[in-house]
Amino acid sequence: MHQEAAAEFKFNTPVFYLQKRQIKGAESNVSRLARLCWKYNIPPSLLFNEFLKDGTNVNRSFFNFEVASHLNSYTDKTVILDDKLNRLLGVKQNAHHSYRYLNGILDQRAHGFLSENKKWCATCYRERQQDTRDSFENGVFDDLYWSVDAIRICMLHGTALRNKCANCFSKQPYLSTTVEPGYCHTCHSFLGDGEAASVDEEELSRQQTLFYLFYICTYDEFRPEMARLIHNLQALREAYPSATSRYLGELIGVSEDVVRKWIGGSRKPRLDSLFRLQVALGLSGIHQLFLPDTEFIARIMMSKNLALNFNARSRFKDIKKEQEIKEFMLAMIEGEEETMSRENLAKKFGVSVGYLKSRYMRECEHLSRVHKHRMILEKEQRDADFAVQLDRALSMVASRKKKWTIENTLAEMPAGAANGIDFQELFIAFGKAKERLLERRRKKKS
Ligand SMILES: [Zn+2]
Ligand SMILES: [Zn+2]
Repeated sequence: MHQEAAAEFKFNTPVFYLQKRQIKGAESNVSRLARLCWKYNIPPSLLFNEFLKDGTNVNRSFFNFEVASHLNSYTDKTVILDDKLNRLLGVKQNAHHSYRYLNGILDQRAHGFLSENKKWCATCYRERQQDTRDSFENGVFDDLYWSVDAIRICMLHGTALRNKCANCFSKQPYLSTTVEPGYCHTCHSFLGDGEAASVDEEELSRQQTLFYLFYICTYDEFRPEMARLIHNLQALREAYPSATSRYLGELIGVSEDVVRKWIGGSRKPRLDSLFRLQVALGLSGIHQLFLPDTEFIARIMMSKNLALNFNARSRFKDIKKEQEIKEFMLAMIEGEEETMSRENLAKKFGVSVGYLKSRYMRECEHLSRVHKHRMILEKEQRDADFAVQLDRALSMVASRKKKWTIENTLAEMPAGAANGIDFQELFIAFGKAKERLLERRRKKKS
């Protein structure tokens, strides 16, 4: 790879090299550029104009914000710059340090997507500085997601991201053209200093919905794909025939035509449309729009947000049944429904016991315990009731001066009172009833 890059940029040795980071998640392109300039002691504008620019030269002010909107975003320009920077550093072309994975998903108007000032986590800075204190590389680097405007917290530490130096309170350019990465552009003090502000619960949970798309999805294995979303919207229509383009459009405030174009692939949704769609479908995060179709439909069913009729003949009918079984099992476990044996449950839903065991292992175990417990309680109650009846019947036998036998006693009981009790149990119960009667008589005498 180095050789190819060297040829492209007309060098006869490999170009630049940055030590690979061990921490997962994506470092931003701006951060890579900053470290590269610092390591090789090249003024950022010189490096950018020489190797990366597409058009006119840039000057220093470019590095306040524009550098991020060019290098960290998801526009066509970002894709080109991402590739160029990868070539320059001799790294694989699919190593992304921008939101280019959203290039295939979102509308190009990325205005307002990135925050105008650099944000960073002071705790992350401190940890990164310690990790690499002994190495020759400069240690501090910026995570890609910190540059997203909507993101206000560090996803690792749950603390507020900072946008001002703790020492001089000045805001920072995305890339300082004069100071080492991690240090204040104005007063040169370390940007990892100072206490991090904590974040309240409400804000934390709000940030959770941003977590997946802008943080987890920066990991290679979680990239969302537009084809998935299109497929899922088609699946939605299959499961709920009234979920037409028109219906969805009304739900999220865009025209029917726009939704049709998304599905047809000729137009990409805007980010806020995706957020509205997620809320309308009752999903817990925007990432769920990109799940495999059966999981996608299952989540929507579970949320019960769509007041539409389900197509019971669609290929998702099994999901519906699965969900009904699960809900019924939970109701039994919670005591809202009377428990039943696994065999009866299987019969009720027309599935096999093996299916229940494999599909709902945890619930089955839990339900067995609950059901067994109920059976024991019921038996105890039945035994107690039966003992009372036996006592009464045996007293009758005695008062009629009849022989104290099981047969005579049963004759004094209501028909069927001993049903379901085997002879041995009956024998023991009768013996105990006799003892109790003798005991009562002894007590009377004394
Ligand atoms: Zn952090
Ligand atoms: Zn400062």
